[in-house]
Amino acid sequence: MNALDKFAAAGRSGAPLHDEVLIDAHGHFGHGPDFPLIRPTAEALIASMDRTGIRLTAVSAIPAIFGDAEHGNQIVSAALREHPDRIFGYNVVDVGYPDRIQRQLERGLAQGFRGLKVWSYGARSGLPYNHPNYDRVFAFADEHRLPVLAHVFGPELDELEGHIRRRPGARWLLAHIGSADLEKYIRFAREFPTAYVELCLSVCQRGLVEHLVAAGIEDKVIWGSDAVFLNQASQLGRVLFAQIPVEAKRKILGLNARKVLGLAG
Ligand SMILES: [Zn+2]
Repeated sequence: MNALDKFAAAGRSGAPLHDEVLIDAHGHFGHGPDFPLIRPTAEALIASMDRTGIRLTAVSAIPAIFGDAEHGNQIVSAALREHPDRIFGYNVVDVGYPDRIQRQLERGLAQGFRGLKVWSYGARSGLPYNHPNYDRVFAFADEHRLPVLAHVFGPELDELEGHIRRRPGARWLLAHIGSADLEKYIRFAREFPTAYVELCLSVCQRGLVEHLVAAGIEDKVIWGSDAVFLNQASQLGRVLFAQIPVEAKRKILGLNARKVLGLAG
């Protein structure tokens, strides 16, 4: 291992990386609909961030994703008021109710949300991203130049492709690379200037991060943890210990996120 790799050294020692820009682009607050999570609160997440040196975590509310945007978003909104320098908010809308969408989009912007989170599950029933109800959501992201974190587990890539082409003002974080269709994710990152791939996944395939850097997309890979479902520290370790150049780690762990989240300059 490279003796000068401060990222791997921090992973080994457990010391927080305070002098690097670490941004977690994929986190959550709140309980799931049918299973408990351990302390899914802003305070618990910030304690985890302080232990590891993560400056900012971009979160959406789990209840909002699972059908209750009205109440779920308020959990994130409260955290944005209390911890504006540590939390970035993804707004979620009740996409099944088209008459609510515009109002919820505008309210989110007024409350300080700076991105959108969408959750469709190709393998289940529910609205696919190419359902007409999503047009207004993605048009809003395009108009306001917002990042969109999209849950993807394979089939959703095809549902999103038309939107990515038609909405160049939005920036797209294609979540859970490694879940399925790896080469298609990589194609999107290469082909579309606004498409990025995001790393969080409960399985950690050996060599995935190295493969993405070797594929030439180190400027398009975004680190995220899926906290509070998953532990930020274990997801961080996937990049800290990857066999890639230090500068690629710096980009993946934060510099790329600054761009895609609209935080840079
Ligand atoms: Zn998630």
